[in-house]
Amino acid sequence: MTRVAILGGGPGGYEAALVAAQLGADVTLVDRDGIGGSTVLTDCVPSKTLIATSEVMTDAADSRELGVLLGEESVRADLAAVNARVKALAVAQSQDTAASVEKAGVRIVPGVGRLAATDRVVVEAVDGPGEEVPADVVLLATGARPRVLPDAEPDGERILTWEQLYDLPELPERLVVVGSGVTGAEFASAYNALGSDVVLVSSRDRVLPSEDADAAHVLEDVFVRRGVNVLPRSRAAAVKRAADGVVVTLEDGRTVDGSHCLLAVGSVPNTDGLGLRECGVDVDERGFIAVDRVSRTSARGVYAAGDCTGVLMLASVAAMQGRIAMWHSLGDAVTPLNLRTVSATVFTSPEIATVGWSQAAAEAGEIEAQTIKLPLATNARAKMQGIHDGFVKLFCRPVTGIVVGGVVVAPRASELIHPLSLAVHAGLTVDQVAQAFTVYPSLSGSIAEAARRLRR
Ligand SMILES: Cc1cc2nc3c(=O)[nH]c(=O)nc-3n(C[C@H](O)[C@H](O)[C@H](O)COP(=O)(O)OP(=O)(O)OC[C@H]3O[C@@H](n4cnc5c(N)ncnc54)[C@H](O)[C@@H]3O)c2cc1C
Repeated sequence: MTRVAILGGGPGGYEAALVAAQLGADVTLVDRDGIGGSTVLTDCVPSKTLIATSEVMTDAADSRELGVLLGEESVRADLAAVNARVKALAVAQSQDTAASVEKAGVRIVPGVGRLAATDRVVVEAVDGPGEEVPADVVLLATGARPRVLPDAEPDGERILTWEQLYDLPELPERLVVVGSGVTGAEFASAYNALGSDVVLVSSRDRVLPSEDADAAHVLEDVFVRRGVNVLPRSRAAAVKRAADGVVVTLEDGRTVDGSHCLLAVGSVPNTDGLGLRECGVDVDERGFIAVDRVSRTSARGVYAAGDCTGVLMLASVAAMQGRIAMWHSLGDAVTPLNLRTVSATVFTSPEIATVGWSQAAAEAGEIEAQTIKLPLATNARAKMQGIHDGFVKLFCRPVTGIVVGGVVVAPRASELIHPLSLAVHAGLTVDQVAQAFTVYPSLSGSIAEAARRLRR
């Protein structure tokens, strides 16, 4: 029986454990903080649970247009109750995941692990004596943690990382979000909807610099309309506590006052102290583990998956890298990771969902593609639902019409992107997408309409 040892119980680790157990391996999963990892306990699941409440607030704020008059007292969020729900849901999800992993026959060892050799993992147990786990295959899936700035030390009260937000007893009066990437934009959108005054400090020309430019512009317009104060080309140099709040000092000397500050300036990998270099596992200058498309590291028998590799920091990618590692190491059929088929969503209001090749890549000449963009404003269902912002964009190859990418900006774009994800994955043509039935009236009708417009 092949012995598999996995360090880290996030999606990179636990999804791999499930695959390895299914393939008949003897699997040990070592985890420090709880099965589900940061994904479930501090990052993805908590933030999307918070956003579920902010969506209700947005719907309530927009309901007058649909003829709904809310009572005298304005709608407000009880942040203590929201946060209690967020934390309880995260713990329950972690327990559910641990239960399904154990049921599959995986042995879970709570503790901190490191490589002693390429065929041996050492665990410092949380309680009780440590142990050595011999292994034919090792998977490193230790994730990442929030990056902090040297002059912006989080204190858990006013200067916060995203992991510390859920201990806030009350809604921040004025939240300064430093960083306008996906995490910063999501929290700016959510706290604005919950009722905080939000300032978004962006070091770049626009929010979401790595996303589709048209989508980012839609979001910026919505932010302006809803009163989010976006400060472009503003790099934070320091964040300090003031008498009853915080002061963010920008590199050009300007200052921004707030009651609280959220630091959303990226992540650093949890790869220190894992014994990597000693065992011949290559890491880059930022500490990310180098892997190939089947998750192999430079050391024989040692694989890595998820945020500790820095390949693409998404739970779905971590899970796929972990599964691929097990399929490969245990001799099953395997397709190497293909980042050109990944679908992802920025959970702002509206959501921004993307799949496949981007317009930026097409404009840079990396791929030849035809494009169409249809605003949702003309879609009947959007009108009925009072949706004014958003669009569907499709990219296809000029000669064959094969769909190579798409963008959807809409409420629940995370669900609407799936037909395009299927099309990209299966190499469907715009003709095939156009001919599939859509429901009338539906937002997905705009996806079929976009495909019809691209038919030759
Ligand atoms: C605010 C936020 C929101 C996000 N939202 C989304 C989203 O909506 N969708 C999405 O796809 N992605 C989202 N992400 C990204 C996603 O959370 C990460 O890509 C994902 O957590 C990576 O999973 P992982 O398995 O690599 O690591 P993690 O989930 O970080 O798990 C790693 C685990 O390893 C453990 N560990 C670390 N060191 C050791 C050690 N030495 N020994 C034993 N155990 C160890 C840790 O305790 C942890 O449990 C979000 C990220 C952030 C910050």
